[in-house]
Amino acid sequence: MLQENPANNDSSLPLITGEQLAYALAPLTSWRIGGVAERFFSPIDIENLSDYLKRLPAHTPLTWLGLGSNVLIRDSGIKGAVICTKNCKQVYQQEDGSFFAQAGVTCAKFARFASKLGFPDAAFFAGIPGTIGGALAMNAGAFGGETWEWVELVTVINRQGHTYTRSLQDYSIAYRSVSPKHPAQLEEAFIGVVFRFPKSSLDGMDKIRELLRKRQQTQPIGTLNCGSVYRNPPGEFAAKLIEACQLKGYRIGDAQISEKHANFIINSGAACAHDVETLMSTIEAKVWDRFGIKLHAEVRILGQK
Ligand SMILES: Cc1cc2nc3c(=O)[nH]c(=O)nc-3n(C[C@H](O)[C@H](O)[C@H](O)COP(=O)(O)OP(=O)(O)OC[C@H]3O[C@@H](n4cnc5c(N)ncnc54)[C@H](O)[C@@H]3O)c2cc1C
Repeated sequence: MLQENPANNDSSLPLITGEQLAYALAPLTSWRIGGVAERFFSPIDIENLSDYLKRLPAHTPLTWLGLGSNVLIRDSGIKGAVICTKNCKQVYQQEDGSFFAQAGVTCAKFARFASKLGFPDAAFFAGIPGTIGGALAMNAGAFGGETWEWVELVTVINRQGHTYTRSLQDYSIAYRSVSPKHPAQLEEAFIGVVFRFPKSSLDGMDKIRELLRKRQQTQPIGTLNCGSVYRNPPGEFAAKLIEACQLKGYRIGDAQISEKHANFIINSGAACAHDVETLMSTIEAKVWDRFGIKLHAEVRILGQK
């Protein structure tokens, strides 16, 4: 359900070239859920992004978006500027064999690109339906592979529009989590990455086909969802815990726990963010009551309550 936040329709906001006001975000998410962005901008390239940031009033809150495959945007929308990097899509192999990819390259495209050139360790990206920028922010991973395992360096942009190169040592990296070590980096976003993989004679495209087949068997492909809602607790599987609470198929409004994979919540029609959050509270309470385990959301919840 799309709900307009009246506070987001401020026609007095000065518009920056290429920017849109009160922009509906639901269509930009894999759940098709969420309110509007007060200001929205999708740069065509890094120069365009830098120029936008230089002109954005300094106090404006910033939110970054890739393909919206791991976000729950609240019904009241997002204050400030939402910047979607999905159009920054340069990708190429460098002379030394490493790969450069901009934030908007899709994980699926990158997996195929690197695998075809003889680097099958990149195949794990194939079924992750987001961008490389989102994968860097989440340390996305699948089937034993993880984004930051292969990072040589990243390029970032700060809110003043200045770009920098950062190394692995600048971040604390863990399971589905990446945080900059220095407070000054907190407002930086990823604009590009250099990955390095070992060359291999194994067929990367075969590996991709196999990984996609496994996903087809275990995940509710073809439904509106955000992938795994919860991180796996140490030594446990969130899906197993939720299933053991007899919650498969349980629904609030049009938000429903998948019958196929209990760590997936599906929007079966017109679910709103409030339905999803209420369902998540139910899941967390039941798992806590039964197992004494606190589930932590993998999905990023954005916007005001
Ligand atoms: C069907 C399905 C299957 C999935 N399977 C997996 C899986 O196997 N493994 C896995 O790890 N994830 C999986 N996911 C979740 C999701 O695809 C990944 O987390 C992905 O990396 C998110 O990328 P995105 O571009 O969609 O990011 P978004 O959802 O748009 O954003 C996610 C977070 O990253 C931030 N962000 C986005 N771009 C940038 C940027 N350029 N700079 C800084 N921050 C940024 C956002 O602010 C937000 O906090 C799945 C999702 C779906 C729908």
